[in-house]
This record gives sequence, C-alpha cells and structure tokens, in this order.
Amino acid sequence: MAAPLIETRNLKKYFQTPRGLLHAVDDVNLTINEGQTLGIVGESGCGKSTLGRTIMRLVEATDGEVLYEGEDILKYDKKQMKKMHTSMQMIFQDPFTSLNPRLSIGEIIAEPMKVVKNVKGKEAMKQRVHELMDMCGLPQRYYNTYPHELDGGRRQRVGLARALALNPKFIVCDEPVSALDVSIQAQIINLLMDLQDQHGLAYMFITHDLCVVRHISDFIAVMYLGQVVEYAARNELFAHQYHPYTVALLSAIPTPDLSRRNRERHLLQGEVGNPINPEPGCRFASRCKYATEACKAPQQLREITPGHFVRCHMAKS
Ligand code: SF4
Repeated sequence: MAAPLIETRNLKKYFQTPRGLLHAVDDVNLTINEGQTLGIVGESGCGKSTLGRTIMRLVEATDGEVLYEGEDILKYDKKQMKKMHTSMQMIFQDPFTSLNPRLSIGEIIAEPMKVVKNVKGKEAMKQRVHELMDMCGLPQRYYNTYPHELDGGRRQRVGLARALALNPKFIVCDEPVSALDVSIQAQIINLLMDLQDQHGLAYMFITHDLCVVRHISDFIAVMYLGQVVEYAARNELFAHQYHPYTVALLSAIPTPDLSRRNRERHLLQGEVGNPINPEPGCRFASRCKYATEACKAPQQLREITPGHFVRCHMAKS
C-alpha cells in the first residue's frame, strides 16, 4: 500500500472581508499518497483552488497542519520552505499568465534550476532543459521561442516542464486543462499520467470536470463551500454516492450510453449558501431537498463504509 506523502489536518483558510470572515477552506482533512492522485471537485468558489494554494503556502493557512512525510511544513521558515518547494510544485489553469512573456521557453524552464543552483554550467543547463522538453513532448526547436508563439497545449507543456525541473514528488494541478480544447486536454492528461508512472509523482488534481477527475484520480474529495462533503476511492465514489450534492453532481455527467439517457437527473435548486460567517449547520441545506431541523446542527465527516466518508447525518450504508 502506498505511503502518505501529504496530509492536511483540520486545515483552515479564512479571509477577512468587509462583510465578515470568509471561510474559504474549513477543517479539511485529506491524505495524498506517494505516486497517486487525489482529485478535488466542486463548483467555482467551493475553495478547491485555495486549498491547493494553502498546501503550497502561496497563501498562509489560518489554522491546522500540512504534513509532508509526517512533518508540518506550516512551521517551516522561509529558508526551509524554499528547499521544500523543490519537492512540491504547482501548475495553473492559464499557463499564459503563469509564464513570463519576456523570457524564452528555454529560460523559463531553466529558471527554477538557476534559483536553487543545482545545475552547473551553460551547456549542462541547456542539456537538462532539452531533457525536460523531451519528457513533456515539447520539440526542442521551441527552445528560443516565447510563450505568445505557442498554443495553449504547448504552453501547458512548458509549465509542466518547469514544474518538473527540480524533480518534485508532489504537484498541485489547478484546473490544468480547463482552458484547453478537448483533444489537447486528453493529450495533457495522458502526459500527466505517463509522467506519474515514470517518476512516481503524486498529484492533487483540482477540477470542476467530473469526466476528467474520473479518468485521472485514485481518490476523490468533493468540496462544497470550503468543506469536504464526501471522500472515497474513485471507483467506490462513482459506484455509491451518499451526499445529496455528490448525487446531483454525478447525475449531471453526460453519457454516450443511449440506454442511460433517461436516467434520473438531480437538479440543484435554491440559493448557494453564504461562505461569509456561515451558520454552524450543513452548508448545503439551502439547496437540499432533504433538509430538516436536524441539519441545523454541525455535520461531521463520518465513515459510512470502509474508506468512504460523508458529511451528512442522513447518510447510511
Ligand atoms: Fe441535506 Fe441535511 Fe444532509 Fe445537509 S445534512 S446534505 S441538508 S440532508
């Protein structure tokens, strides 16, 4: 069984706003194993990107722990964190805005290695950049080109080559294919999976696309307004859903199977709750057709069947 690489314990990230405290990430407990992928799904604004950024310490957590191989990296100082970032990297939804337009592709990929000074000499650096370009399916002729000369798929390959430059063990992939055409999406997903097999990488794959998450994930966490509402192994989650939000999400996946075209759809109604100073009860209550008085009490993530966790008092195996 794969060992845990990243664990979050009661992780919280709140933002002070003029209207109160926005609970972007609230009490999140998750594990990402070595060489595996944890998919994080949910609608826009559910906190999934903030969760990734908080784990990477691109924003500072309000409370909780982020364990990397058992050590809480939230306690690390700047110097320790800089070293840590050789093992943890992030790729973003829009590779264009995350790549410096004034640097050539070769310079962009070399940048992290220049910062940590782990490659000595110009020739060795060029060779290593070429290696990374090959690894990511990027022809070496693009070495001296600039980001604006490449299409979205190739720019994402550049982002990936830069992320791999320091041989990380863990990559947060924040909607890395959402801005790409469907055919290019498949190429990038397959590349990510090949790189995982070859280098034993662990991914946190953030997306709102359930078809993509089904393809790439080993485990899946469904988030709603800052909280994980359901968490299970991929096949288990697609076979059994217990939280009404997960049921609605999965019923909306389009299917090419004509015999399943008339299956029941669970449309969400009602207003999305307010993440600012939220009530202590279930955050999904304003859209849940099963909501009762009992839902006004705080809901805990409970293990319904082995390894399958749900945040709803009604959930039963
Ligand atoms: Fe619906 Fe209540 Fe369960 Fe929340 S706790 S999902 S409101 S039944």
